[in-house]
Amino acid sequence: MERGQTSAAGLPATARRTVVVGGHEFGREFVIIAGPCAVESEEQTLTTAREVKAAGAHLLRGGAFKPRTAPTSFQGLGHPALEILQKARAETGLPIVTEVMDARDIETVAATADLLQVGSRNMQNFTLLSELGRIDKPVLLKRGMSATLSEWLSAADYILSGGNERVILCERGIRTFETTTRNTLDLSIVPAAKELSPLPVIVDPSHATGRASLIRPMSLAAVAAGADGLLIEVHPDPANAASDAGQQITPEAFRALARDVRALVIHLRGEVREAGVA
Ligand code: PEP
Ligand code: MN
Repeated sequence: MERGQTSAAGLPATARRTVVVGGHEFGREFVIIAGPCAVESEEQTLTTAREVKAAGAHLLRGGAFKPRTAPTSFQGLGHPALEILQKARAETGLPIVTEVMDARDIETVAATADLLQVGSRNMQNFTLLSELGRIDKPVLLKRGMSATLSEWLSAADYILSGGNERVILCERGIRTFETTTRNTLDLSIVPAAKELSPLPVIVDPSHATGRASLIRPMSLAAVAAGADGLLIEVHPDPANAASDAGQQITPEAFRALARDVRALVIHLRGEVREAGVA
């Protein structure tokens, strides 16, 4: 089978697939995921959850298990963070997106997450991907920082071929020679991925750029490139964040951005639907 003809599940790439998470339909609505890089405390997470909900975010993100480059960096609060995320969902109604790093944690993390994230560093953790193919929970598959489109789609096939068809792709920047930004946001991969795969594709400008000042222009550009949604890191006090301090935006900045993203989506694609922005 030539890549581009059909996915592992046998769907032609042109037949777009939608993935429903907590009532929001990726691939039909424009879905905004927002929240802190990591769950640091109940107060920090609940404050952020309330703020992003009021600003129009559809899902709340927050890392409990953090894949940090250095073992001495903050690794996340682990299980207590999952409880905090449950409280945030109970209070705001926002479905939860959080990362699973280890196949042994899938059951525990899936008990809290509405959407399980596989991070860039684990995109080719084939044991983890195969296990995620066996569960009944949607998966957000981030692009490996050095992965080609073909490798990324093959990683998705590990999940799809196990029977789990609810996979969403997330472009989060790739390694290039450029050091001005943390990674290089590869926006051309959004329409390119859609030519070869029926899966929804969202964009994470936060990890792609590493710089708060670049989140707004890259988010708007992602809408124009045809992304199905955004993942944006928001923190009530970015300067003092335990991880990714330079790229997290304030709730105020997020509010203005979400408003303009919505306006651009409506301008380019028309029609607003109740659950989100179509
Ligand atoms: C994250 O989203 O929390 C994260 C660590 O991102 P990435 O895997 O893209 O680096
Ligand atoms: Mn982060």
